[in-house]
Amino acid sequence: MPSGRFAPSPTGRLHLGNLRTALLAWLFARSDGSPFWIRFEDLDTASVRPEHYQSQLEDLRLLGLDWDDDVIRQRDRRDLYESALATLYQAGLTYPCYCSRREIREATQAPNGPWSHGHYPGTCSQLTAEQRIRHESAGRTPSLRLRGSPQPIEFVDLLCGPTRGLVDDAVVQRFDGTPAYNLAVVVDDVAQEIELVVRADDLLDSTPRQLHIADVLGLPPPRYAHVPLVLAPSGDRLAKRDGAVTLADRMALGEDPVQVLSFLATTLGLAEAGERVSPGILIDRFPSATLPTEPLVLEPDRLDLG
Ligand code: GLU
Repeated sequence: MPSGRFAPSPTGRLHLGNLRTALLAWLFARSDGSPFWIRFEDLDTASVRPEHYQSQLEDLRLLGLDWDDDVIRQRDRRDLYESALATLYQAGLTYPCYCSRREIREATQAPNGPWSHGHYPGTCSQLTAEQRIRHESAGRTPSLRLRGSPQPIEFVDLLCGPTRGLVDDAVVQRFDGTPAYNLAVVVDDVAQEIELVVRADDLLDSTPRQLHIADVLGLPPPRYAHVPLVLAPSGDRLAKRDGAVTLADRMALGEDPVQVLSFLATTLGLAEAGERVSPGILIDRFPSATLPTEPLVLEPDRLDLG
């Protein structure tokens, strides 16, 4: 049966924006009677804070969301990613890249044509064997890049509509050997038979890249629903400095998890202000949800949770 998932990185407490995305992902899956998985995206060891595996699960549980066993951690699944990397390598689609971040930044100061800042300009894509040896003997360890798509990639996002993007040569393995997020997410979404990926729309730009990776691996792509971000009044994405943004913060103000869940439901047109709702009620109402297509601006210190 096709599944849904929520895939947080355990780098801090979930905030109201994360919780709203989790609620939507859960509603899509459970209202369809589908499995729903939690997958921790924890390959980036430098930013993981071990206590937040538990804090994030606890907050979802307090809101009344449930998930199927087992909770998945990407760091336990490196074999799967290594085998996808081997497939790409054997197909001759990858190459070692010796560029530092600074070199890439400098090379893309003045992008021309359709590319945006931050795309990889292809510096290492045609290196000769001698040039590679020279880099290696200078002590540079390469990352591995996948050759991009010659054509723009197009897809229809359930919330953002028709979307198209260019795909540059993306890193699929970091210089320290860690599989890159874009590769791991594709492998996992297919392995877990995710039918609809529901996540925040800051990843919309990465999606053409992920579709390209699925394509060259011969894997069936999921569909996507990118949820507009929750923003602070400044227009920046909601962050800790914006006040009481986590469930723990809200509870410290004397609010209970039902109030927070109900508030999130009001932002989806699934509850009236001040009403107290349960996850079960939300599943019944979900077919009439007003799916978000615009960012939600919140002033956390002025939220009236009823
Ligand atoms: N780990 C990402 C995040 O916490 C989400 C990735 C995804 O859902 O594909 O923003």
